[in-house]
Parts: sequence; C-alpha cells; structure tokens
Amino acid sequence: MVLAQLGGSISRAIQQMSNATIIDEKVLNECLNEITRALLQSDVQFKLVRDMQTNIKKIVNLDDLAAGHNKRRIIQQAIFNELCKMLDPGKPSFTLKKGKPSVIMFVGLQGSGKTTTCTKYAFYHQKKGWKPALVCADTFRAGAFDQLKQNATKAKIPFYGSYTESDPVRIAVEGVERFKKENCDLIIVDTSGRHKQEAALFEEMRQVSEATKPDLVIFVMDSSIGQAAFDQAQAFKQSISVGAVIVTKMDGHAKGGGALSAVAATKSPVIFIGTGEHMDEFEVFDVKPFVSRLLG
Ligand code: GDP
Repeated sequence: MVLAQLGGSISRAIQQMSNATIIDEKVLNECLNEITRALLQSDVQFKLVRDMQTNIKKIVNLDDLAAGHNKRRIIQQAIFNELCKMLDPGKPSFTLKKGKPSVIMFVGLQGSGKTTTCTKYAFYHQKKGWKPALVCADTFRAGAFDQLKQNATKAKIPFYGSYTESDPVRIAVEGVERFKKENCDLIIVDTSGRHKQEAALFEEMRQVSEATKPDLVIFVMDSSIGQAAFDQAQAFKQSISVGAVIVTKMDGHAKGGGALSAVAATKSPVIFIGTGEHMDEFEVFDVKPFVSRLLG
C-alpha cells in the first residue's frame, strides 16, 4: 500500500467509527483493526503495529468518546502521536559543523541507492556552504568507482577512488586523509554492498569503520523492500553503529512503512528521503509533516 492510500485507509476507518451512533469497545476495536490492516499492508512491522494498537487503546478513553467529544479528533490525535513516536527515536543524529572535518560513512545493500545517495547528500550540503568530498571504498561492485566519479564530476565535488586497488580499507583511509589535508569539512565514504546481508559485507564494514573512525554511519535502505525492512536494518545496526537512516525510492510505488520499521530497528532517525534518480530529488525528513501528510 503506498503512502497516500495508507492515509486514505486510516481516515476512512476513523470516519466510519465517527459515524457510529454508539462508540463502544467493539466499534473502537473495528476501527483499530482496520488501521492495523492498513499499516501492515504498508509494511510496518507486525510487532510495532500491535504495540501501537495497545497504546492507542490505553490513551483513548471510551467514556470521553461516548460523551460526544469530537471522536474523530481524539482518535486521529492518538494515531498521529503514536506514528510520530514510532518515527522519532528521541535522539538527534550527529550534527555537522562547518570548517571541522566530519567523516560520514554510508552503508547498505547493493542496489539500495547508496552511491546515488552519497552524491545527493554531498550536493545538498555543498549548496548550503559545506565543502564535501566523495571517497569510493566500494571495490566489490564493478563500475562503482565510475558511477561515483561521474556523479561527483557532474556536481563538481572532489572524489577519490582507484581502478586497481582492491583493499577498500586502504582506499578509504587514503581518501579521508587526503581530503582532510585539503580542508574538506564533509568527507563521505561510500562502502560496498552485497545482494544480501552476509558476514563478508559486515566484516568489511567494520574494518572500514575502524580505520576511518566515522563521525556518523548512515544506513541507506530501499523503501520498496517491504516487511524485510526491520530485519535488514537490525542486522546492520548489530554490526556497525548506525546513527541515521536515509530511505530511498520514496517516489513511485514506495511504501512508507519501511521507514517506521528502520527507525525502530536502529533507534536512529530518518534524516533524508530519496524521491527520484536525480541529484536534487532528495528531501530533509521531518517527522510531523510526514505523518500529517500520511493522515491527510
Ligand atoms: P547502490 O548499489 O546501493 O550504490 O545503488 P545505486 O546508487 O547504484 O542505485 C541503484 C538504482 O537505484 C539506480 O538506478 C539509481 O538511479 C536508483 N535510485 C537511487 N535512489 C533512488 C530514488 O530515490 N528514487 C528512484 N526512483 N531511484 C533511485
């Protein structure tokens, strides 16, 4: 279920409940079951949805509803708050400082949009006055360096990589050192991905991280992976200290639920979303406007 449909389904469920003459537990349950179905179809993890249902039941007081208060508003507010709570891990991600070099390491599976997102992130900050640089430590995927080079050249961002060196740790360290010397204040390290979560990928990630000591590790996740989102995000979090999430491919048939699951699994905020293949199809992620839009 895409985001707009999710909002529609939730609104419809609330509307149906508001139309009932008497709001008793049965009517409230029907409404919450309807909302649960909609969230599950949007790929929010089952446990999160179940917890949300329990919380809403605790918050929404049936006596208030029966007394003729604005039922629609009460339930809508409770759902709004619960969804915001799910998306807000309660701690901000690392804050970049201009003029001081920060190393940001990107991790994620192959095809998640990692390389594209590295450039988008660099481009976004370049426009805001930072001095970014891109390091391609992906020696696994053929063509990864060419792709990064092409993107970086288009955005006029300095880049570093190698066609011959096969050790990602070495490239990462060399690139970071070089750009620190060149006074870049945002050094972005693109790492390799694999088709699936596997030991070799996580080991490589750990080594690159140990050698470059990133200030922030960003986990990039494709929004179309469905219910797999929670487990994937959790597997990364268990291997490396993920501090923020970027959810890609939120355009087209994207399901929003994966974002909620990734936040829950990593206890880290979503900081941006990717909304297309182009460099500027990239948006800052704000919880409240996102949920407002979701609920229509
Ligand atoms: P990587 O293997 O994780 O580095 O993934 P890439 O950056 O090569 O991206 C894989 C594909 O997804 C490419 O065709 C990108 O153009 C595409 N892509 C990346 N981000 C987005 C996005 O936000 N929206 C859409 N529609 N496509 C994207």
